Amino acid sequence: MHISESEKVIRTLYEITSEHDKGFEFQVTRLLELACERFNLDIGILSKINDNNYEVVLNVTPEDIVLPNGTEFDLERTFCSLAIAADGPVAYEHVKESEINNHPAYLDQKLEAYIGTPVYVDGKVYGTFNFSSPTPLNRKFQPVDIDALQLMGSWLGTEISRNNSEKLLIQANEQLKEISIKDSLTQLYNRRHFETEFTQLFHLAKRHNQSISLILLDIDNFKSINDTYGHSAGDDVLRDIAQILTERTRRSDLIARYGGEEFVIILPDTEKSGAKYLTENIRKAIERHPWTNQTVTSSFGIQTLDKNEMETFEVESIMEASIKSADKALYFAKKNGRNQCAHYQDLP
Ligand code: GH3
Ligand code: MG
Ligand code: MG
Repeated sequence: MHISESEKVIRTLYEITSEHDKGFEFQVTRLLELACERFNLDIGILSKINDNNYEVVLNVTPEDIVLPNGTEFDLERTFCSLAIAADGPVAYEHVKESEINNHPAYLDQKLEAYIGTPVYVDGKVYGTFNFSSPTPLNRKFQPVDIDALQLMGSWLGTEISRNNSEKLLIQANEQLKEISIKDSLTQLYNRRHFETEFTQLFHLAKRHNQSISLILLDIDNFKSINDTYGHSAGDDVLRDIAQILTERTRRSDLIARYGGEEFVIILPDTEKSGAKYLTENIRKAIERHPWTNQTVTSSFGIQTLDKNEMETFEVESIMEASIKSADKALYFAKKNGRNQCAHYQDLP
């Protein structure tokens, strides 16, 4: 009889634990229900323990017992402290008739029957999986009950550990992605990400028949800032410029650190006049910024891909061509005296 009983329990356990797609909460709730039924007990709890704090993570109770998840108890005032102390399952069919009939959990809550096991995650106590009832059990707990409880406890431990690792892995992946697309000094996008985004923004502009502009910014005489005030003062300038660019542009614009002291901005849905206006605005903001030691200025080269000509541009060559044009304009601005903006289409 015991064999078929345990087979039944194990089979149901297996069915529940293989339902990964239903999610952890669903699976634990089903386990709690199965075990309550199996043990003939009313209350089933997965708890989390931190020092002397016992917190109900998930539970099932009859309708007349209200026990919200998150409810906390002093561990020492729960029977679970006994399972923790025993380092394994403990079971009482009738507490009043047992040696623990003066335990605080009995005095506080008048629970007559209890069975519970510690749950270990990565070798450390996570909490307990436990079942209790205000009425005594009308039978003896069987070895199969203890076995089933231990099985559930070890499945829970493994699953919680796996969930934790999965969360850490997802976080690590997100951080890695962030690092791989950002420049660590300025927190702007890096050149590689700019290149990926440019193609996408170009396709978008083509599809929606919109112009798109590109600005190249190069700090004037940056080498002398480094030489006079030191490399870290130079780094501060780069960070401040990144901040100015972020503040002066729209969320839909894309700013990247293109090289050492060069930045690039893509302005979707922006015509020549809009691009020139914004660039002049940025130029003045940099010039007027309250720099610590020196004055800082920068020069700009702009290129606009006009919506009326979008059809004629080839995606394979357009990025290189746009950068080249903006760079020519930038070179003109430098040669013409620095601290100014030049649009490729206005070049003499
Ligand atoms: P121009 O007005 O013609 O642009 O002159 P410039 O001095 O700005 O240009 P140049 O290309 O001669 O010098 C760029 C300098 O930028 C040289 C390089 O050491 C410095 N630089 C590049 N990356 C960084 C960085 O991350 N931090 C600091 N502090 N300096 C950098
Ligand atoms: Mg340069
Ligand atoms: Mg420069």
